[in-house]
Amino acid sequence: LGRAGRLVSHLRAAWLSGKTRPLEYRVAQLEALGRFLEEKKQDILEATASDMGKVRGVGNELLSDLPTGKGQSCFGSGTEVPFLQVTQLDSAFIRKDPYGVVLIIAPWNYPIHLFLVPLIGAIAAGNCVVIKPSEISKNTERLVAEMLTCYLDSDCFAVVTAGVEETTRLLENKFDYIFFTGSPSVGRIIMTAAAKHLTPVTLELGGKNPCYVSDTCDVQNVARRVAWGRFFNAGQTCIAPDYILCSVEMQEKLMPALREAITEYFGSNPRESPDFGRIVGDKQFKRVRALLSSGRVAIGGQTDEKERYIAPTILADVQPSDPAMQEEIFGPILPIVVVANMDEAIDFINARPRPLAIYAFSCDSKVRVRTSSGGFCGNDTLMHVTLTSLPFGGVGNSGLGKYHGKFTFDTFSHHRGCLHRNMGLEAINSPRYPPYTQQKLGL
Ligand code: NAD
Repeated sequence: LGRAGRLVSHLRAAWLSGKTRPLEYRVAQLEALGRFLEEKKQDILEATASDMGKVRGVGNELLSDLPTGKGQSCFGSGTEVPFLQVTQLDSAFIRKDPYGVVLIIAPWNYPIHLFLVPLIGAIAAGNCVVIKPSEISKNTERLVAEMLTCYLDSDCFAVVTAGVEETTRLLENKFDYIFFTGSPSVGRIIMTAAAKHLTPVTLELGGKNPCYVSDTCDVQNVARRVAWGRFFNAGQTCIAPDYILCSVEMQEKLMPALREAITEYFGSNPRESPDFGRIVGDKQFKRVRALLSSGRVAIGGQTDEKERYIAPTILADVQPSDPAMQEEIFGPILPIVVVANMDEAIDFINARPRPLAIYAFSCDSKVRVRTSSGGFCGNDTLMHVTLTSLPFGGVGNSGLGKYHGKFTFDTFSHHRGCLHRNMGLEAINSPRYPPYTQQKLGL
């Protein structure tokens, strides 16, 4: 069986015992999770800070790494539905059943948040859960492995620390649901492994999120909102605006406004700013730095390998064939690609894989109406993710499935159509039983 196999069997036995089904049990586990967040807040902040160079503000409640869980869980397992006349003495309902033993695989960029929010929904829905944090955010991984399981019931919840090799072996086991957050290329590997067991998946992936800026916008406000979204967590945010599409005139107007916003947020030397982060690792640093050779560096461009520092950078006149336009940037670099007008921007977006988010600064809804993406935010960046009333997820290359708020509970529930029939009034059933005489057929 191996270690992973034994662990999954242990959780499956607990699942089959029905332990996770009572509402009181789920509430108690969610409360324990709340205590973990409350009591270990300082440890969590320190671990994420040492992994990410996380800085003031990024640890706040807004988009950050310490969701309280409030508003993320939602109970309610049964919904009555209308019924037909022949079943009027019956009871018909949709039962939201837990799937069973589920696997949550998380990336490193918000190393707590991205396993915690799905975990809340998985517990609320009544599942047993294996959590696999990213091995790249190693301090957070260690903390979660050592401390989280002291709070949760270890018969039903486990943390596996695993790199690629061990995760590959973990995926050989049969899970009843897999919730994966990470890159599209690993998403394909996860879906292939899940297909062997016909295991349903949610894939929360990444990609290049376009940000269209029309000519009629308030340039200062656009610059502030875009610079905030791009440079939050040093650009390592799956829904960060990845590149700007605008006219050549708007590019000229944006430049001083972006410079002003960057200086306002991070001072004249962002390296000294307590509000500007670092790239997570050396490999990632080298990859992002190589993208600086695109277009012309209009703002920033300084790097320091020892610190894994890349200054907030704006690249102007970037060509679609440049390196920065070939992959998700996932760092503090913002290329501007010049387009003639909104129609050309729409064609540009539609010629590429469907992104996780599209941003459009415009009073015209055409960009939203004529494109497809996981989510959309008009006249701002990132903010749609803060509403738990909105589903969050990708489409096409940016993923499949949705979560946040009640959608997380639904994701981790099988919607089981149920009918309980009345045992009386057998006579009304006779038309459906053979023999199908001419009288029964109404001939
Ligand atoms: P990644 O795909 O490299 O890794 C994600 C997880 O998969 C990690 O836990 C890792 O250990 C595991 N993994 C890596 N290679 C594997 C393999 N071959 N087999 C099995 N498991 C493997 O992603 P990352 O670098 O950690 O995160 C960055 C990516 O995640 C970006 O593309 C970003 O856009 C995306 N992301 C998406 C969301 C979202 O909500 N849609 C959120 C955050 C990040």
